[in-house]
Order: sequence, then C-alpha cells, then structure tokens
Amino acid sequence: MSNLSQRAQKLFIQYLRENNLKVTQERLALLAEIFSTSEHLDADELLVRMKTKNKKVSRATVYRTLDLLVQCGLVRKSRLGHEHYFYEKVQPGKRHDHMVCTHCGRILEFWDPALDERQRQICQEYHFRPSFYSIQIQGLCEDCQKVEQENTFL
Ligand SMILES: [Zn+2]
Ligand SMILES: [Zn+2]
Repeated sequence: MSNLSQRAQKLFIQYLRENNLKVTQERLALLAEIFSTSEHLDADELLVRMKTKNKKVSRATVYRTLDLLVQCGLVRKSRLGHEHYFYEKVQPGKRHDHMVCTHCGRILEFWDPALDERQRQICQEYHFRPSFYSIQIQGLCEDCQKVEQENTFL
C-alpha cells in the first residue's frame, strides 16, 4: 500500500468512528481499490473490480461507501460527460481539471495555474467566496478527431 492510501485509510477509519459508522472490510477494500489506480471509475466498474478480486460487496454498499468517501473529502465525484458519475482518489496538492471525449469517453487531466488564479480573481470581482470550482471541457480527443476526418474523406 502506498503512503497516500495508508493515510487515506487512516482518515477514513477516523471519519467512520467519529460518525458512529462501522469500519468494515468492504468499506476499506473499496477505498483501497480506488487508491490503487489513477483511473476514473464509476460505481459499476468498482463493483466488477471487487468481483474479480473475490470480494463480496453489494451494489448498495458501493454507493453508500462512495457517498461517505466523498463526504469526508477522500474521493472526488464528477459527472464527466456521461449520464453518470465517476469517482477518483483525491491527491492533496494535486488539483486538476478534465477534458472529456464525448465520443469514446476518454478522460484527459490538465492543470493550469494561470486559469486557477483567473477564477480566483473573477470570484473576487463578484464578491463571491468560492468553496469549490472545476472546469470540464467536452469535445473530441485526438484519436476520435482522426477517425472523424477519415470518415469525411471517404
Ligand atoms: Zn475519443
Ligand atoms: Zn481526474
């Protein structure tokens, strides 16, 4: 287990105890799974991943645990161009925004400090105190653009 996931597990256990919730193997296994990858997972993918590892977790437990992980700030929930949500680990000090290919579903991460600063300024101008902001750009990835071009030339 990486330092990041060890730290996350510690925080999650603390959060569960503070809220009088049970610390279960299922919950810890789900957290470990999310922190084992940099991918953006939806609830169904998580369910499949747990099954292939022979860990029995119900769909209800997956959703409930994801909610808890989001509430305690360890997991980020984003609606990425689809009709459902994706979940990914939160890495302190490593913020990022997303580009989402609406054709193949590919997700690209980017981060631009100047853009971040600009958003801060805009909030100041509007006397708005931000608690969270994120940018999502939808469009076509490089591969899908190529496919599109090839098709139009046929
Ligand atoms: Zn694409
Ligand atoms: Zn991401």
